[in-house]
Amino acid sequence: MKVILVSSTGALDIQDVSKSYIHEGQPKLVLSHINVHVAPGEFITVIGPSGCGKSTLLKIVAGLESRDAGTLLLSNKPITGPSQNKGVIFQEHRLFPWQTVEQNIAADLSLKKSDARQKVDAMIELVRLQGFEKAYPKQISGGMAQRVAIARTLLRNPQVLLLDEPFGALDAFTRTHMQEALLDIWQINQTTMLLVTHDIDEAVFLSNRIVVMDAQPGRIKHILPVDLPHPRNRLSSAFQELRTLVLRALEHDPGNSKGASWEI
Ligand code: ADP
Ligand code: MG
Repeated sequence: MKVILVSSTGALDIQDVSKSYIHEGQPKLVLSHINVHVAPGEFITVIGPSGCGKSTLLKIVAGLESRDAGTLLLSNKPITGPSQNKGVIFQEHRLFPWQTVEQNIAADLSLKKSDARQKVDAMIELVRLQGFEKAYPKQISGGMAQRVAIARTLLRNPQVLLLDEPFGALDAFTRTHMQEALLDIWQINQTTMLLVTHDIDEAVFLSNRIVVMDAQPGRIKHILPVDLPHPRNRLSSAFQELRTLVLRALEHDPGNSKGASWEI
């Protein structure tokens, strides 16, 4: 019998995670029984209305926020706090304004060391920032700054990249461009991705599967697979059909359902 070993590196398990915050002296359930298994190298998008707990979930996975219940595993090992094997990207880029693009990417690495220099140069090439190495954050666009943040995080070779509405502050044109850039990076690097967004197009364009959440308490309504080959054509009818499916999953109120014929 042939034994096939499948690597678990980059697998992310979110098992029965719940979380409450104290609101006006009372515990308020913000995440209820969240279960998602993300395969190594998979691109998962989490979408849902404002306040449904997307950022809280991402912070819990990042080890930046505690949970009340549930288990979290990255590559089969318990997540106990922030670590270098989990990269986190927020909406605001959080670059150091007094450092250049290459210094921000290098962060604690010395650029004088040739192996560090090589790694930084490779990242600059990956995120297509050649020619901007010596620029300061205020001299580059928001999209470029976000690419610097992604490069800085990827340099640490994380097993999973956690992104919380990373392109939410960008104009529509730059956002589209950044989605293409992120797709490129994912296809080259094969890092497991967990991206929070409220942009349906972004979810359909990028993901292997879309986790649709609902609010009060934050919970998973549906997990929709996106079986479209890359590169995806936003104007194709298959893309539009999936877009409609996500929209209906978001709008659908299970309490009013009688048979929900659109479910997949
Ligand atoms: P989303 O990212 O989906 O918009 P959040 O995860 O930011 O949602 O918030 C989910 C809910 O938890 C909201 O009702 C929010 O007000 C509440 N919340 C988030 N962070 C805190 C906190 N630190 N303390 C109390 N309540 C919080
Ligand atoms: Mg949020």
